[in-house]
Amino acid sequence: MKASRFAVGALMMAVAMATSAPASQAEEVNVYSYRQPFLIQPILDAFTKETGIKVNVLFDDKALIERMVQEGASSPADVLLTVDIGRVQAAVDSGVVQPVESDVLKANIPEAFRSPKGEWFALTTRARVVYASKDRVKQDAFTYEELADPKWKGKICIRSGQHVYNTALIAAMIAHHGEEKTRTWLEGLKANLARKPAGGDREQVKGIYAGECDIALGNTYYMAKMLTNEKQPEQKEWAESSRIIFPTFENGGTHVNISAMALAKNAPNRDAAIKLMEFLASDKAQELYAQANDEYPIKPGIELAPVVASWGSFTPDALSLDEIAQLRDEASKLVDEVNFDAGPQS
Ligand code: FE
Repeated sequence: MKASRFAVGALMMAVAMATSAPASQAEEVNVYSYRQPFLIQPILDAFTKETGIKVNVLFDDKALIERMVQEGASSPADVLLTVDIGRVQAAVDSGVVQPVESDVLKANIPEAFRSPKGEWFALTTRARVVYASKDRVKQDAFTYEELADPKWKGKICIRSGQHVYNTALIAAMIAHHGEEKTRTWLEGLKANLARKPAGGDREQVKGIYAGECDIALGNTYYMAKMLTNEKQPEQKEWAESSRIIFPTFENGGTHVNISAMALAKNAPNRDAAIKLMEFLASDKAQELYAQANDEYPIKPGIELAPVVASWGSFTPDALSLDEIAQLRDEASKLVDEVNFDAGPQS
């Protein structure tokens, strides 16, 4: 705790120095990122190369929004990078972001993927899909609803129901079918689990490889990352036991979520921050996102990473992200009520 306070203090000093320095001094911008450094560093480096603006990154995968609340007006944060509409909405609700009016962002990011007020902008999308055992699953199409069908009893692996990726999916289920039907669905899904929810999405693929389950739910990019993981060839082996199927809601499409950016409420380097945000929505950055992150770029017409392209196209669900965000608390409550994370035998 002390160490991290010191780090912020040091960062604030750096900011103070940068803002009081003469104009000829290099500009800087401070990024608070829930996204892992290796995912975004190549893109930030490209920005620095193009503009000369230095980017300082503070990475934390948990409490950055809380931190911004605590720091208040003296927060050194300029840009917040995060994943999941739930976290984006939490940032807006906590009052740590401010609107941005930018023609570049409006032109590059489709309307459905940015806040009407300019409080957040999506950068990429990812689909929450079925990973299916190549050997043991014969069907080629799935609905999310059928994951609760008893025919899958003991065959499904999934991470915690409380993880934001799952609460967003459950929130979408509530939007489609209402709370009661979603509770029944969740109970059915729980009864079909092969084991207690644990680990990340990659561990669910491992479960398929190990024969513990036949299907799992996960985000698209994990499968791509595993298939191309030269440093951990065992992950490649796990992933090769599975294939991706894009499920749909019975009355909709495939559930997608976003990674996104927002301008911090008290951004000390506002101009540089907006330059960075516009860069992240540019062709160049969007190509880097697609190739380095294996996600779907938000700007139309950008080429996908080869593995991602190999899965073919799908129809994203038409539900608004805003609606999903509004229902996430209800979703989280349902997960608790059915005691989802206790696993199938509870
Ligand atoms: Fe992830």
